[in-house]
Amino acid sequence: MFIRLIFLFLLFYLVFLVVRFFQSLGQSIQRKNAGPDSLPKKTMVKDEVCNTYIPVDEALKENRNGRVYYFCSEDCRKKFLASGEKFD
Ligand SMILES: [Zn+2]
Repeated sequence: MFIRLIFLFLLFYLVFLVVRFFQSLGQSIQRKNAGPDSLPKKTMVKDEVCNTYIPVDEALKENRNGRVYYFCSEDCRKKFLASGEKFD
């Protein structure tokens, strides 16, 4: 009898977990459908070497004189480092 009670409790708990799972799933889908405004904005940064814009999280970073420069590739970063202050 007692075991049956525990089993029932576990069953309810499982149902509760499943319901909660689908609720959070629905919320994340709603967030996706809410449009681009609700998404975290990707900051675009300029590559001073080839003048292209890249998302900040994909860019290579180089700090010079307290300013951070961004590059689309290791190639551009090397060009910048070789150029000295040319891009300031
Ligand atoms: Zn570049």
